[in-house]
Amino acid sequence: MVITMHTRICPFCKEEIHGQALVCRYCSRDLPPVKLRRRKNSSGWLAAITVAGIIAGGAAFLAVEFLRERKNWLTEPPRRPESQNPPD
Ligand SMILES: [Zn+2]
Repeated sequence: MVITMHTRICPFCKEEIHGQALVCRYCSRDLPPVKLRRRKNSSGWLAAITVAGIIAGGAAFLAVEFLRERKNWLTEPPRRPESQNPPD
């Protein structure tokens, strides 16, 4: 019996069934969900959190800078530079 990626063995009747079958076609029993072979890489999560933190930090920095610039725009009087020092 050749076991490919698309087939697996029923844990109850030991018959070869479809790899993603939810019910065994031989014994009609509910099958446990397919365990995907994923590596538990906590470093991936750590990297994702780190990247998210960097992005959030960058966004916050940009937001602060933007608000600061915007505050300068609002506080600066809309007058022309040559009128600041009137020649007299
Ligand atoms: Zn079965």
